Amino acid sequence: MISFKKSKKYMSKNLIERLNEGPVLCAEGYLFAMERRGYLQAGSFVPEVVLENPEVVSQLHREFIRAGSDVVQAFTYYGHREKLRIIGKEKLLEPLQKNALKIAKDARSEFKDLDLMVCGDVANTNIYDPKDKKSLVECQKMFEEQVAWAKEAEVDFIIAETITWVEEMKIALKVIKDAGLIAVCNYAFRRDGKTREGISPGEACKVLEDNGADVVGLNCFRGPKMTIKLLPEIRKSVSCHVAALPVPYRTTEKDPGFLNQTDEGCDCIPGGNAFPVALDNLYCNRFEMGEFAKECASKKINFIGICCGAEPHHVREMSVALGRKPISYKYYPDMSKHYAHGTDKTLKKLNTDAAKTL
Ligand SMILES: [Zn+2]
Repeated sequence: MISFKKSKKYMSKNLIERLNEGPVLCAEGYLFAMERRGYLQAGSFVPEVVLENPEVVSQLHREFIRAGSDVVQAFTYYGHREKLRIIGKEKLLEPLQKNALKIAKDARSEFKDLDLMVCGDVANTNIYDPKDKKSLVECQKMFEEQVAWAKEAEVDFIIAETITWVEEMKIALKVIKDAGLIAVCNYAFRRDGKTREGISPGEACKVLEDNGADVVGLNCFRGPKMTIKLLPEIRKSVSCHVAALPVPYRTTEKDPGFLNQTDEGCDCIPGGNAFPVALDNLYCNRFEMGEFAKECASKKINFIGICCGAEPHHVREMSVALGRKPISYKYYPDMSKHYAHGTDKTLKKLNTDAAKTL
């Protein structure tokens, strides 16, 4: 069992002070990245990889950091009691959570020159039921155990995310604030752009601000365009910092969320729903994500990121769009050196002249 050594405080400023100075970039999406690489199963979506193949999680942390993420998010997402119950492995809960936190902290210590923040994470419990009082207590217990482990690991803040109920989010928020930690609360907004109670994004976020949330906003479900649509109302309704972390898929007015997507160009997807494992043709490219980051910054949305589907190339372009040069900028594209499309004087004219014929 892991016990956390008291570590020196890495961070010079806390999240709020950092946000006061400008955007903070946060790469998420570990679940999808690990599924594509073959380290966890779509459907149950439990991050067993943090126990079975921790080195793979470390590597993705590294790649996101190199790409410019300011935050190392411990991969505890969906590593909660209900998810582990469904695969019959509840006894793994504590080691899984603690391992994920340790992996994130270790990744940060590899990059001592960067002012990185480590965050914990709680998410939709999937047991919340407004009509069942017992479920509210159970929910609270699930959040409490996760927040306690994150606090023990001395995280810089906690994100509560992908929650669709205001009341469930309020339980998570209270647990985080009672632990004395900075809380980022990100809803996932459904097709109708409302919470499960039917509350609008602005109103739902205001409730959180009034209850002590430090950052409010949205993550997951929607692609960049369908996320941007909801941001002005949120920005107008609250005075705290606002977060936006879409999925990198081209979701549309017709289907704003990625949980129900069809791919017109493909007729062999089992069941017809491209979610979650056949979304490839709907992928946003790096430049679309860069534009998203720029637009957020111009709208005073300061906690900017990317959720399920994220890869480091998206994150790097978002970082560059925010005017930065992250570590992996070293290998930023330079097509002037391409043998056919390039402009470098040493290239063979025979090939550059033929570029359009390729
Ligand atoms: Zn997501």
